[in-house]
Amino acid sequence: MPELPEVEITCKGIQPYVENQTIMQFIIRNGRLRWPVEPHLTQTLQNTTIQSVTRRGKYILLTTEKGVLMLHLGMSGNLRILPCDTPPIKHDHIDITLNNQRVLRLNDPRRFGSVLWHDAKQGSIENHKLLCKLAPEPLSKGFNADYLYLKIKRKNVAIKKLIMNNQIIVGAGNIYASEALFNAKIHPLTLGKKLNEQACQQLIMHIQNVLRESIKQGGTTLKDFLKPDGKPGYFVQKLNVYGRNGQPCTQCCTTIEKIIISQRASFFCPKCQPLKES
Ligand SMILES: [Zn+2]
Repeated sequence: MPELPEVEITCKGIQPYVENQTIMQFIIRNGRLRWPVEPHLTQTLQNTTIQSVTRRGKYILLTTEKGVLMLHLGMSGNLRILPCDTPPIKHDHIDITLNNQRVLRLNDPRRFGSVLWHDAKQGSIENHKLLCKLAPEPLSKGFNADYLYLKIKRKNVAIKKLIMNNQIIVGAGNIYASEALFNAKIHPLTLGKKLNEQACQQLIMHIQNVLRESIKQGGTTLKDFLKPDGKPGYFVQKLNVYGRNGQPCTQCCTTIEKIIISQRASFFCPKCQPLKES
């Protein structure tokens, strides 16, 4: 699944090709994505200019004078920049052809991605129902220890589950959450209310580090993520716990364990990440 670093890399990757370009054609080959793509977009978007390419959470926002096109890559989506005469292949559902003779193309085999329209008449994009409840950006100033401590200090819920809730933190996908908890020496089942401000500080620092490192390296997770230039877009980051159950801990050689928390596999070292009972 594309996580925040992959989306950030996609956003930065497409930006130079897309920003300030005029949309010549918006082509819907298969509009049955997570939500149906609005058919009027083929007309609405024609001859509009993409003023900016930005990201909020895992949404890529293409802002035009008429409104904002919100792209989400879902479970298996990817965006590529191609010469506009490149024939489509299977699962190439949406094309945005641009006046620089390129096409921004969405491929999504599982079709959990989305292409949504927010008309300028509906006001600021920040108030969109899918964006307004999102936590602050994880690499912004608003995401700090005081914020996290206030959010979780009364929660009788495992910290792993809390940090994967995008109303508390955006961008801590499963791999990043497991790795950040290992680096912060916090057991994934520790209840939110057991973490003091210092532990929150540590956790924030390690979440930010793991995200920054992944963005730097090109994103970790995705076997079907393609960089806009068509090359495989991920580096295998050094993972300490994720996917390493049964193998020795990189720090202490204790065997890494796997547990399921909210239907997601979690990996941890029982020695480096002791469960705090009090
Ligand atoms: Zn260990």
